Amino acid sequence: MHCPFCGATDTKVIDSRLVSEGNHVRRRRECVTCQERFTTYESAELVMPRIIKTDGVREPFNEDKLIAGLNKALEKRPVSIERVEEAVNRIKANLRSTGEREVESRVVGEQVMKELRSLDEVAFVRFASVYRSFKDLNEFREEIDRLSKDNNS
Ligand SMILES: [Zn+2]
Repeated sequence: MHCPFCGATDTKVIDSRLVSEGNHVRRRRECVTCQERFTTYESAELVMPRIIKTDGVREPFNEDKLIAGLNKALEKRPVSIERVEEAVNRIKANLRSTGEREVESRVVGEQVMKELRSLDEVAFVRFASVYRSFKDLNEFREEIDRLSKDNNS
């Protein structure tokens, strides 16, 4: 946590309390270097790593975007909202558990592929063909073979 006054990285927490039904933590901090005090609010969402897009641009993790991507692949497929929610929660937990502050969008894409593969084969193929933008049919077949081999092992 950088000090907003002098930019120092070393700050200490002098008070910490839960706010808004325990979803947020309010922390009073003091900068070790300039002694200025400031307040931070931390929520579970903030623990999510930022996403590094293929062009190098960083953006905050966007759960709505993730759900929209899954729903698009699962359009008219027999998969319940509950199962999609479970998949989203698993993806988020996996991203958090990397402990990284930033992850490449590729990592998220791989997670989505993994979840779709177990949710619905058709949705998986839909997503994979767009996401990987396979050059030809053989490359796509190889990927399917590779993934089904992983599934069986
Ligand atoms: Zn400072």
